[in-house]
Amino acid sequence: MASKSKIRVRIAPSPTGPLHVGTARSALYNYLFARQNGGAFVLRIEDTDLERSDEKYTREVIEGLHWLGIEWDEGPTLANKEKGKYGPYKQSERTDIYRKYIKKLIDEDKVYPCYCTPEKLKQERVAAAKRGEAPKYSGKCRNLSGADRKKLESEGKGSILRFKTPAQVITFTDEIRGEVSFATDLIGDFSIARDEQTPLYNLAVVIDDYTMKISHVIRGEDHLSNTPKQILLQVALGFPKPYYAHLPLILNEDRSKLSKRMNKVSIIDYRQDGYLPEAMLNFFVLLGWNPKTEKEIFTKEELIKQFSLKNIHRGGAVFTRKRLDWMNGYYIRKLNPDDLYKSTLSFLEKAKIPVADKEYTKQAIALEQERIKNLKELPDAVSFFFLKELEYDPKLLLWKKTTGEEIHKNLETVEQFFQKLSEKKFTAEKIEKGLKNIIATRKLDTGSILWPLRVALTGREASPGPFEVAAVLGKEKVLVRLKKAILLIS
Ligand code: GLU
Ligand code: ZN
Repeated sequence: MASKSKIRVRIAPSPTGPLHVGTARSALYNYLFARQNGGAFVLRIEDTDLERSDEKYTREVIEGLHWLGIEWDEGPTLANKEKGKYGPYKQSERTDIYRKYIKKLIDEDKVYPCYCTPEKLKQERVAAAKRGEAPKYSGKCRNLSGADRKKLESEGKGSILRFKTPAQVITFTDEIRGEVSFATDLIGDFSIARDEQTPLYNLAVVIDDYTMKISHVIRGEDHLSNTPKQILLQVALGFPKPYYAHLPLILNEDRSKLSKRMNKVSIIDYRQDGYLPEAMLNFFVLLGWNPKTEKEIFTKEELIKQFSLKNIHRGGAVFTRKRLDWMNGYYIRKLNPDDLYKSTLSFLEKAKIPVADKEYTKQAIALEQERIKNLKELPDAVSFFFLKELEYDPKLLLWKKTTGEEIHKNLETVEQFFQKLSEKKFTAEKIEKGLKNIIATRKLDTGSILWPLRVALTGREASPGPFEVAAVLGKEKVLVRLKKAILLIS
């Protein structure tokens, strides 16, 4: 292991789409690893693909990480500033750095221009696939003479730069997978730059990781096959090799690669669906890391202490939606009334729930806290508290074999009870005690009182209990709703 003071890790998202679940998990693992070793966590934006990159997504990535509570020590910020001394942290601003290293590769004759057109390369790939071989560049342009090149260039032929891949076996130790080997004859002469200042992915990563002094590259397994190419470039440029740790793929429940087809894959979607960042983090950390205990709930502080690269498994990590929902429910129930209110306010406002009376709103949502699994369910769950007039089928007021007439009578009894109950005594406990007393003395069927009362107050088949609902609604609303129910049933 590198000495602790030198641990520097990074994530390098491409701003070509919203923050992806896989990137968020990589971010979390890098963040935990940096924190636990007193190292630095770097955010680098890989926007060399100018056509597909969009500033909007850079902002979304930054916002998403902030929302999750994954803070970086170095990188761009929303204020368009940067923190850290190894910047710029956006590849599009690092052209001068790249130019220097590309020149070195050209001067040392380690790369060559390839004039093959994309169509030609595609034909070659198709032909290779037909022969049952892995696609690989033929190496055709490697041996062009200086005169050939001059001629092609005078004809206006465009080119890219390719690396002269030496024939050898690249072996490295992955912190999670152990020893991994790749024979380079399967890789061929891969492209490394569009021109003398525009590196392609593999070269940009190698230069950035080196110049940013990255000690450990912790990233998804989908990049494992890029690692030998990156090592070849490190060797060619005389850079030291970082440690590598490739995280297991995240899978749908049918064990296919996580996809939109079966799961939402953008962090922003989960935020909009009312998931709490604490639940997301707790869920993500278990997508690959085995805590070696039965314990499933971890605070960030516990994770910083207990997380370890060594306990990451190699096999795919299944994205189990049920587990996420369970965790989200757990974290929702743990919120205190103020935090619950704060977290749900935007959802209520969006659903046009009139939230002017903060205390009332807080009490209403507290009653649903036990029942919801995400915050998006809340507006619908509490809407009856805020309606002027409830709409429901009067038949809903009926209880088992009890007749409409009896229900009418029972509701009148309940109404009288509430009439007499002072505002001060309008608590769930007093209401429960009072009503149970009436039920006992008059020898009534409990359901024939409580069921129609609950329906009268909520207009629903399912809701929190009638005593709690009545206490939150308050005397005035309770009486209005009971009057309406009494008129509806006879
Ligand atoms: N831009 C790459 C991605 O978003 C990151 C590659 C790396 O971590 O080396 O997957
Ligand atoms: Zn070529």
